[in-house]
Amino acid sequence: MAGLDKPSKGAEKILLAQIKQEFSAPAEAIEQYIDLVEQYANENELEISSEISHIKEAEEKLLSQYEDAFKENTASDKKTKTSEEYSELRHNLRTPLNAIIGYSEILMEDFEEDLSKECIKDLNTILSLSRETETAIERFVDFIKGDLQENAAEDAEQGHIQNAESLFRALGDIDYSLEIDEHLKGSDVLIVDDNKTNCEVLERRLSQNGLSCRVALDGTSAIKEVDKKAPDLILLDVMLPDINGLELLKKFRKDHERDELPIIMVSAFNDVDSTAKCIKLGASDYLPKPLNGTILMAKSIASLEAKYFRSREQELLKELHLKATTCPLTGIFNRQVVFDKIEECFERLDASKEYDFALLSMDIDFFKSINDTYGHPGGDEVLKKVADTLSEACEENVVGRVGGEEFIAILENQGDLNLKEYCEKIRKSVTDLSIPFQDAKINITISGGVITSSEVKDQEDLVNLADERLYKAKESGRNQFIYD
Ligand code: GH3
Ligand code: MG
Ligand code: MG
Repeated sequence: MAGLDKPSKGAEKILLAQIKQEFSAPAEAIEQYIDLVEQYANENELEISSEISHIKEAEEKLLSQYEDAFKENTASDKKTKTSEEYSELRHNLRTPLNAIIGYSEILMEDFEEDLSKECIKDLNTILSLSRETETAIERFVDFIKGDLQENAAEDAEQGHIQNAESLFRALGDIDYSLEIDEHLKGSDVLIVDDNKTNCEVLERRLSQNGLSCRVALDGTSAIKEVDKKAPDLILLDVMLPDINGLELLKKFRKDHERDELPIIMVSAFNDVDSTAKCIKLGASDYLPKPLNGTILMAKSIASLEAKYFRSREQELLKELHLKATTCPLTGIFNRQVVFDKIEECFERLDASKEYDFALLSMDIDFFKSINDTYGHPGGDEVLKKVADTLSEACEENVVGRVGGEEFIAILENQGDLNLKEYCEKIRKSVTDLSIPFQDAKINITISGGVITSSEVKDQEDLVNLADERLYKAKESGRNQFIYD
């Protein structure tokens, strides 16, 4: 039964971690808020450096004294103390806290007129965090005295220790901000952490540097946020109440590549193994808690920058590819693509007896006179419309502009396709065009030479024969396709 049996060693360890966490979360958060107040003071040239340094000194003392007391009183060979000694310990731990509370109150009273609303709010937060820290000190001393209810250990074992371990310490000095490039400003960062204070501090740090933040306090909301819109960067706490941060990382990696969605893991487990595990699971980087503000910004910026350059690179590659494969005027394939395709068709022809293809070499009739009548822009308009029409008429097949007003289409595996009907349909779709240009409607016709792969032995043969047939079509009246 709970409370009667002595808690197991494992449970006691968890309880101990919880006791420590109860202290370090608020105690370390105080430091963040002092930094914010100090930064405000510097920006507004307030003469409060002496109060600030008193608070800072007290904060340092608070953390180090607790650390020492914790080590000393939880060691396996700890000495039991007298009741007076416990009271003294409690008193000593509380002393720096009293200084923090005292100086914060002084600042609020003496500089009420000079401080912004936000700054007053920060000072109030320091006061309430101090009270939380005070309660945690009580509990700690009760615990080492052996006064704590034993079933607390079991509670702890049942998952009450899920909270993130601690807040970020030593966010650096006043000038922790890093220059952030204009193109990264407004980047969308998702902070996933179950500790609200943690999120708030992170959010303020990142927004101060021009980033835009969203916050998720558990895994489920993080998934929802990402589904809504994938952010530019996720800062992901390893310890979350519902879904383990590593599981979440795996889940996000299933749908998003590292380049496309950088994820920085944030955790107090700062050993090499955990770091390596995160990286292996697809984390872009790893930030150990307690966080350092400068490193936080440097790593966030580095990840955002990598994402930015990667996507720029992909855009440029796409642009380059488009430039290399299409005709700028008409947007259909260029000569290079068509001739590469013909080569590929011959390779397939060599590899398979079942395979065949046909080539259509087409040329607009009397195109020169179109230019003469409507000028070059009129001619260009015709080229664009013909290109569109051929593309549509040739369906899935490759069709490209190979010269001024010359086009080639390649029909693969025609099988039982009626080639003549198909080509007739293409010819007619061009003849049917009535292309509006300025006040006129331009009508044109097209001629073509058609050849199938079974009639030739190589590429040169193919192109020459197709051209011969095209020439024949021109010679014998245009507006027709010749097949032999
Ligand atoms: P045919 O029926 O025998 O094919 O006569 P054609 O006038 O169509 O043929 P020709 O080869 O004599 O003339 C083609 C013209 O196409 C000449 C050239 O100035 C024009 N041309 C080539 N490229 C472009 C272009 O990009 N835009 C425009 N507007 N005209 C072009
Ligand atoms: Mg022509
Ligand atoms: Mg021509």
